[in-house]
Amino acid sequence: MNDKLMLMIPGPTPVPEAALLALAKHPIGHRTSEFSNILAEVTENLKWLHQTQTDVLTLNVSGTGAVEAGIINFLSPGDRILVGSNGKFGERWVEVGQAYGLNVEEVKVEWGKPLDPAVFAEKLQADTQKQIKAVIITHSETSTGVLNDLESINRHVKAHGEALIIVDAVTSLGAFNLPVDAWGLDIVASGSQKGYMIPPGLGFVSVSPKAWEAYKTAKLPKYYLDLGKYRKATAKNTTPFTPPVNLIVALHTTLRIMKEEGLESIFARHERLKNATRAAIQGLNLPLFAADSSASPAITAVAPQGIESDKIRSLMKKRFDIALAGGQDHLSNKIFRIGHLGFVSDRDILSCIASLEVTLTELGYEDFTPGSGIAAAVKVFSQS
Ligand SMILES: *Cc1c(COP(=O)(O)O)cnc(C)c1O
Repeated sequence: MNDKLMLMIPGPTPVPEAALLALAKHPIGHRTSEFSNILAEVTENLKWLHQTQTDVLTLNVSGTGAVEAGIINFLSPGDRILVGSNGKFGERWVEVGQAYGLNVEEVKVEWGKPLDPAVFAEKLQADTQKQIKAVIITHSETSTGVLNDLESINRHVKAHGEALIIVDAVTSLGAFNLPVDAWGLDIVASGSQKGYMIPPGLGFVSVSPKAWEAYKTAKLPKYYLDLGKYRKATAKNTTPFTPPVNLIVALHTTLRIMKEEGLESIFARHERLKNATRAAIQGLNLPLFAADSSASPAITAVAPQGIESDKIRSLMKKRFDIALAGGQDHLSNKIFRIGHLGFVSDRDILSCIASLEVTLTELGYEDFTPGSGIAAAVKVFSQS
């Protein structure tokens, strides 16, 4: 059957009908009071989502552009930075730092394992000259399904006193508790096609007062991504450049939906989706790629033995129109990833696991009793 696509990749994520309808409207002028009013509410609700009183700025970029803006506005050529690297995205921030001539120290861990806060503590404590200007952490490493212990790493950054903490929160914001002010996070970047439940095209950056101080002396070149321009415009409920008007109108809708659900419920739902997915995968005797103690609430990576991941993905797509994500780089065809971020319900996981059981059976995998994945998921869903 056609036209029944179910996106279970970690972005773009599914979009609720109310947001699709908002996208279908005629664009309105972005220099009108009608648009300003929408933007004002969007900005207020972004602050609510980030649990912050500081600035949350909206840019017409994908998530990478948001993180890049979060780096280049606060640093100068040659600045020493530490970058946590345990997957595709951590590696990307190393590359961005190098592209801008920063003195990047990569704090590397094998893909699938979490970053070790003790290593950051050691490096930060040893830096008595306060030369480390920033620490960049990917909170939820989407390529592996690992949630890094940002709270602990950030404590060590705070103890250092000088370094800014820059967070790629692209698949943790809106899925996991990330209290920007309570934790004192300086820069938090995210993207619209993940937890925000709208299509790709917008990036978001929150900026602390300490980061704005650093902005004053930062010398890396910038123009379109100069966050000072966005700060000034946002204060007047406008934008420095033409925004994707319809995406903002759709975001206005999904932020209201999120507020209605409430932060606690949103986090609890993602926790439940993660637990059910992981229980089901174990019920199917398939190995999970990340440990329980560092599992992302947004994405579960599975490392099947003896069956190619891409065969599972292509049959899931063909037979059930369910899109799963594959592995990247050396994990290509070695893992598949089930996204459960954003507009995802318990029912979606049940459909996905039942379809996976059929798919595995058709591919000749017999190391499970039919129904055992579903039974494990049902157990999680009926307990919570
Ligand atoms: C999706 C994602 C990004 C941003 O990717 P874009 O393709 O630029 O939107 C950054 N970090 C993580 C962890 C992501 O999952």
